[in-house]
Amino acid sequence: MGNIEKIAKKYSFEVKSVKSILNQRKGKRSFFLEDYTLNPYMGCSFNCVYCYINGSKYANHTNSYVVKENAYELLYTQLKNKVRKEQRGILNLGSASDPYMDIEEELFLTRDILNLAARFKFPVHIITKSDLILRDIDILKKIQENAILPNDLEDDPNLKIIISFSFSTVSDKIANIFEASAPRPSKRLKAIKTLKSEGFLVGAVLMPILPYLTDTEEALEATFSKFKKMGVDYVIYGGLTLFGNNNRDSRVRYYNMIENYYPDILKKTKRLFGKREAPTNSYHKKTYKKVEKIAKKYDIPTSIRKT
Ligand code: SF4
Repeated sequence: MGNIEKIAKKYSFEVKSVKSILNQRKGKRSFFLEDYTLNPYMGCSFNCVYCYINGSKYANHTNSYVVKENAYELLYTQLKNKVRKEQRGILNLGSASDPYMDIEEELFLTRDILNLAARFKFPVHIITKSDLILRDIDILKKIQENAILPNDLEDDPNLKIIISFSFSTVSDKIANIFEASAPRPSKRLKAIKTLKSEGFLVGAVLMPILPYLTDTEEALEATFSKFKKMGVDYVIYGGLTLFGNNNRDSRVRYYNMIENYYPDILKKTKRLFGKREAPTNSYHKKTYKKVEKIAKKYDIPTSIRKT
């Protein structure tokens, strides 16, 4: 058994070869600003209750998490080709699984990928819930120094390395219910402070905002005041979506947790969603208005790129 297989087995991952590793963005630039998405792993062992990644929408084919064993070799070839065609762009790491799951501590696959990005001078946007990212500050610095931005973003050299920490809450207690396997929010907040002191562009992705739990004026105040204290450069936010009807699906798992820990809001949460995958438009409008008001109060932009 090779080293990858041994480590994968220890963390209950499968090992698979894939045909491609780099997905090119189609259409307009999203608020994450990426040109390419890239995930060295499939599925996510942080296994947040509200997340659809491990549910039937995406993971129907397997019950376990996967290491893409040929990710490094494939990416080497694909990045080399992109450079030859002068198609450098922002690589987004973390669109469909956390690049710093526990297995990464021993496997170093995300670290290897960042080394490739540095070597071929690609800018990178990392989205994570883990302070393990601090291990790779040395490579992040290389990217920050040498990456070449796409034409439409080259006026802002800060965008060469973008680091976003994702949160549904800043409360360790609530996180322990909905994201029990991920590093606590208090650890993430500390990591933000460290990365800010190293001079990186660092923000928060407040997603999903949990109805009746983290969407209140009081909860949003507590959240933004903590973000402000850590010095975030931006907060991107979004609502909860609930999918599927089997035990691995977010709709079933989320309602189970609400029933167990917050039974008094179960009925109104179900009413808010009805048969839909997202709350009503009027709920979104009201919540997003609240978020914008509080963001303004704390003088925190709600997009990465200053407008
Ligand atoms: S860390 Fe992100 S990708 Fe992983 S389970 Fe949680 S929400 Fe999903």
